[in-house]
Amino acid sequence: MKVAVFSTKSYDRQFLTDANVDNGHELIFHETLLNPASAALAAGCAAVCIFVNDAATADTLKILAAGGTQLIALRCTGYNNVDLKAAAELGIQVVRVTVYSPYSVAEHAVALLQCLNRKIHRAYNRTRDNNFTLDGLMGVDLHDRTVGIIGTGKIGQIFAKIMAHGFGCRLLGYDLYPNPTFESEMGGKYVTLPELFSQSDVISLHCPLTPENHYLINEAAIAQMKPGVMIINTSRGGLVETQAVIAGLRSKQIGALGLDVYEQESDLFFEDLSSEIMQDDQIDRLLSFPNVIMTGHQAFFTQEAIGTISQTTLASITEFAQGQPLSNEIKPPEKVPAMA
Ligand code: NAD
Repeated sequence: MKVAVFSTKSYDRQFLTDANVDNGHELIFHETLLNPASAALAAGCAAVCIFVNDAATADTLKILAAGGTQLIALRCTGYNNVDLKAAAELGIQVVRVTVYSPYSVAEHAVALLQCLNRKIHRAYNRTRDNNFTLDGLMGVDLHDRTVGIIGTGKIGQIFAKIMAHGFGCRLLGYDLYPNPTFESEMGGKYVTLPELFSQSDVISLHCPLTPENHYLINEAAIAQMKPGVMIINTSRGGLVETQAVIAGLRSKQIGALGLDVYEQESDLFFEDLSSEIMQDDQIDRLLSFPNVIMTGHQAFFTQEAIGTISQTTLASITEFAQGQPLSNEIKPPEKVPAMA
């Protein structure tokens, strides 16, 4: 089957080509993002393979459908960038990678957390300049600290296990669909969002971005948090209102912020802009704080995860090509319960 693969980097091409040996599809790689302007590149391809910042909006999907596309294969877990309703109306099926390495993202969240807590980013720069002073580098023991986890699915649970069993933290959780093992195996406790906000020393986001939880972390939420709270977001940028966290950092209500995702990331991430003039003032302001660290959507980026993503994506395309039921299909969402 002819497959147009968008947003590809050298590592995508390498892993997808390796995984395709057993599948035999014709992969046509494009570096560009998928959007209405680039969608015509997929003409004649029954399948289109996309990543986190490709915009499978209704406009884009109409162009894809007109060119013969019948399948969108996301090589990621989150699917907030696909208009599922429009896809269903156009007869386009959508698959994603439901499980690859949840360890990759959970472990990266822990890395951001401890880097911020123990000021590793600042120590790294200092010691390279032969400056071995400790002023400004003091952290806290994580043992007995309270960690609030929003979204206790696959990634949230592994993060919970590391924080509880590795560091001895007290866990609070919030989830629309609570998972019993969070309480029975990890000693966590489900609470309401206001309770989680007001009691947590660290808040880590592990829920998908949906229309209902856009800007979950906004001015009102930040006002309920403990002064000096640390916020970690490895989920999706749109969960956090950037302007509100900048205000929270300035007032010191937020003590530290670790981001692997950013609400305007589609214009920036995965590109080398080091010789360009940054046009996004918010990211410049965020990166000027000594207590903010940002990585460019790399939480998933381990050998294990990329290998599994590539194999699962191509296996889904093969299922489609052979007319089999799609194991990893996503349907338009049914109405979600109201958030507490
Ligand atoms: P999952 O589906 O296993 O778990 C998500 C959990 O969030 C579920 O328990 C669900 O009930 C809960 N949830 C849904 N809506 C919620 C809401 N409004 N409030 C609270 N909880 C809610 O997904 P996962 O594999 O654990 O992945 C979680 C998220 O991590 C993904 O949606 C994606 O956005 C993000 N992610 C990021 C990267 C990265 O590289 N940074 C990689 C993979 C996934």
